[in-house]
Amino acid sequence: MATYELYGLGSERMPPSYSSYRSYRFPTTVSVPARFGGGAAPLAVKDLFATTFDELARCAARKRCNAHFRLLGKGMGLADIIGGWRFYFFAFGPEGEQGSWPETDKGVTYAQVVGQYPKTSFAEIGVHITALRSAAFLTATLLHELAHIAGAPGASDEDYATHAAGKLPAKEFDRLHLAEEAVRACGMREHYKKDVIGALDELRTLRGGDPRRIA
Ligand SMILES: [Zn+2]
Repeated sequence: MATYELYGLGSERMPPSYSSYRSYRFPTTVSVPARFGGGAAPLAVKDLFATTFDELARCAARKRCNAHFRLLGKGMGLADIIGGWRFYFFAFGPEGEQGSWPETDKGVTYAQVVGQYPKTSFAEIGVHITALRSAAFLTATLLHELAHIAGAPGASDEDYATHAAGKLPAKEFDRLHLAEEAVRACGMREHYKKDVIGALDELRTLRGGDPRRIA
């Protein structure tokens, strides 16, 4: 059974900072704008995480999902991670925009593993409010982040620039795509983003098509 804490919803532990993003407490509920697929009723953030972890447990029961995770470098299946690790989640967003929904997803860092401590099986993960649009979206986002904990590499700024220019070699794309590939391998096909590399950190899609063909 996964154990996790949410900053502002039960835990007041000070989260770490992450580059230009500022940490803040999760609100009790989120009103998801229609442009992010929201309905009339606000979503309770605690419930969103509970549903997400139920879904992650279902993912972890899939052979293909665990097999993908085990090949990411640390030899851990998704079941090992959600069964054995503890997580500390906090909300984060750009300075001055904490708690507000942007116009679009463009340039948004959905989530980021900010700290991981393998010796104590503990990780700190920042979550942007837009990743709270639905339990399914949050599940896909966390699958990507947990893949990093399992060893999936993250892309550098240079990788992103090369990728955006359509010049990332196919092999390198595949390597940097392993975190996002976990989303597909674990059955969240509709949330899988074929052009995302390294981190779902920022949704950086390539203009002009599939980089695998360009490379
Ligand atoms: Zn990532």
